[in-house]
Amino acid sequence: MDVTGALLPVLQNWSCHNCGGCCREHEINISVAEKKQIEQQSWNSSHGVPGDRPLVVPLGDGWRLNHRDDGACVFLDESGLCRIHSRFGEPAKPLACRLYPYAVHPAGSGVTVSLRFSCPSVVSNLGSSVSSQREIVESLCREVVPAEFGTHRTFLFSHGKEVGWADFRILLAFMERGLSDITLSFRERLLRTLAWMQFLEGAAPEMLSAESLGSLLKVLQEAARRARVDRAFGSKPPNSIARVMFRQFVAQLIRHDTRAVAASGWLHRLNSLSEGLRYTLGMGRIPLLEDPDSVHVAFGREHGSGTLRASFAMAEQLCQDVPDGVDELFGRYFHVKLQGLHFCGPAFYNYGILDGFRSLALMYPATIWTAAVRALQAGEQAIRLADIHSALAILDHNFGYSPVLGMRSSRNRIRQLSRLQQIENLCAHYGGGASVDSGD
Ligand code: SF4
Repeated sequence: MDVTGALLPVLQNWSCHNCGGCCREHEINISVAEKKQIEQQSWNSSHGVPGDRPLVVPLGDGWRLNHRDDGACVFLDESGLCRIHSRFGEPAKPLACRLYPYAVHPAGSGVTVSLRFSCPSVVSNLGSSVSSQREIVESLCREVVPAEFGTHRTFLFSHGKEVGWADFRILLAFMERGLSDITLSFRERLLRTLAWMQFLEGAAPEMLSAESLGSLLKVLQEAARRARVDRAFGSKPPNSIARVMFRQFVAQLIRHDTRAVAASGWLHRLNSLSEGLRYTLGMGRIPLLEDPDSVHVAFGREHGSGTLRASFAMAEQLCQDVPDGVDELFGRYFHVKLQGLHFCGPAFYNYGILDGFRSLALMYPATIWTAAVRALQAGEQAIRLADIHSALAILDHNFGYSPVLGMRSSRNRIRQLSRLQQIENLCAHYGGGASVDSGD
């Protein structure tokens, strides 16, 4: 496959700021050649790497970089820098380390590039524009995508309906245009796009091809302009079933089961399970986030299991007011995820476009909810933009990557929420501005 001309997000900046987060949170798979290269680098404890364990250990059929007891990569130094990089330069690092936070996905006869918002520099839009890094990114794409990789020309829309790549691009452009309309709040843009997608779901399959799609989308746009079809969307509070499903979704995104967690013993794992369950049921006080300042999160590992002196109802209350900057952040996040196809197809558990978009839509209320919990944990009276940034980094770490979200039960949850017309209610209710009531 030719990766020249890879699609890159135009609104996103990124450069590494050496926070060391990814060297603590990720399991780095390496190839046999990379293992050999590391062995030839003749590491020993005089270089600062631990002398009490192998630097590379088996993982399934392959290998991974080993970690210290605290979960950090064995090559991470005290100042947050990579020892391989320091001794031998960037090209000597394993491909997975050089690639992060980029994610490369097949798109038609080429590739498209997304970014992982688990990197704080991506969330905060720090560094140089991604489009100015084309040469580096394309060179990484060449290493990632095998030359013999085939084209990816059709995408599942929903319920067996498929669209070709050219038609999907029209659809994507339409969605992106709707989501970037800065005359509306992001919440309104999202509700409008969900309304459009629902209309499209009911359209006959032949309407989803280029000849008809253009006129169909124009009709939707006009209808939205005249009658504000989206106004009815999200006008009701979510019902109790939707709230339970939503908290379950959030709990699964917050959970971060690293090897260090697995090694922390059955008691911790049991606590983690019971806290996840309490989270889902939404009863009593909220379980603590383990570390609200990084993506290093599950329930209460380092701080011991525990609860906030705050109830779920208090978190709901905080969600009614979101800080300035949220619209910019989510406009950019959705742009990157849509253009990078990081919400459907092979990059997202082979979800169809519609279910994938609805899952992505839920990231908006899920992030605000998590930010509210973080704010309560810090003793704040309102959500700050920093809470939103941290919450998005926490949740996006698992979005598209946690095996749990790929399970049939997760797919059914999205379908059920959609059938009950609750996705838009959740987006409106937890997305700032809706009134709080029981919803039952
Ligand atoms: S998380 Fe991002 S900023 Fe931090 S070290 Fe990794 S790539 Fe760099």
